[in-house]
Amino acid sequence: MSGYKYPFLDLKAVNSVFQPALDEAAMRVIGSGRYIGGEETERFESVLAELCKVPYAIGVSNGFDALRLILTAWVEMGLIAKGSGVIVPANTFVASALAIIHAGLKPLFVDPDIRTLNISAEAIEQACAQDSTVKAVMPVHLYGRLAWDKEIMSVVTRRNLLVIEDAAQAIGASAACDGLFGSRRAGALGHAGAFSFYPTKNIGALGDGGAIVTSSKKLAETVRSLANYGSTAPYTYTFAGFNCRLDPIQAAMLSVKLPETLRVNARRFERAVAYNNVIANPIVIKPEITRHVTDQTWHQYVVRVNGGRRKELRNYLASHGVETALHYPVALHRQEGLRNIAHRPLPIAELLTEEVMSLPVADGTSVADAATIGRIINDFQPS
Ligand SMILES: *Cc1c(COP(=O)(O)O)cnc(C)c1O
Repeated sequence: MSGYKYPFLDLKAVNSVFQPALDEAAMRVIGSGRYIGGEETERFESVLAELCKVPYAIGVSNGFDALRLILTAWVEMGLIAKGSGVIVPANTFVASALAIIHAGLKPLFVDPDIRTLNISAEAIEQACAQDSTVKAVMPVHLYGRLAWDKEIMSVVTRRNLLVIEDAAQAIGASAACDGLFGSRRAGALGHAGAFSFYPTKNIGALGDGGAIVTSSKKLAETVRSLANYGSTAPYTYTFAGFNCRLDPIQAAMLSVKLPETLRVNARRFERAVAYNNVIANPIVIKPEITRHVTDQTWHQYVVRVNGGRRKELRNYLASHGVETALHYPVALHRQEGLRNIAHRPLPIAELLTEEVMSLPVADGTSVADAATIGRIINDFQPS
């Protein structure tokens, strides 16, 4: 393994608690003779829809495809014209922006709010004022903190924007105010939400997996069709679609793990609280713990390290057996593959790439471990 006393993420430890049920589910699928679609995928979809309090959930191949399929469906449905602008924060995983590009739309990078590290109503407003092609916004619930409040709700309503949530890191979180269609759950706040079940997410498959949730029947039908070659009846291809289906074997794995979502998230919350209670080193800025245990999923526990000390602190932590990670070390507009995208200055996104540091927060790290790591951080003295 990693050789660290406090590994960043031990996926074997994460899944071992589910092992007997996962074994049983895998054997069930193998013995079923049904390896695409069928009741395993349907069961997974109904569990997810219930968790998100929405009428429709569609399992797909991964989180990137979930995002891309929603946007492509909106293009097919005539809700958004090719080439239109979609607002997206510059401090997110690359998939958020790539989904916009591959749906034939234009990413408009905005700076996050320095306090929440998420997109703000003000940033959305500014982007709309600067680019008349804006038709949609993609709030990314970064690290599991919801990018949703009354102000965002009001600007998207006033500007008549389509809202696609990148909820890859936020499964099970609840917003402090209603979404556009009543549900407060991540993914169900806007017009459509995308989840990833990449193995490192709070609820991970044993391979790739993703899903779309929505209150729109039309969108649900279009997405389901697009994910299956654009088929609307046997050998009838209404759209030039893709193959983005979720395997029944992954659906079965996820049906085992999904009912544990709120408990998984609550354990992460306990570790975040332990970190915040213990860490007192003045070079470290801690994340804000909001009102309630279900406000955030703590997909990552991310601190900011001031004064150019991050590298030194990471090395020090490594020498004390603590593995850390960076989410993310390069802002999207600085990536070579995205260099052709026009953008305004994004000083906060750039600052964050130099300051953020993620500490171990998943199952496999105990609350006591988090407190110990916090004390190790407090003992760090920059040279
Ligand atoms: C993981 C992730 C994705 C992409 O999910 P995949 O399943 O890996 O395609 C998209 N956006 C964010 C914010 C993510 O964290």
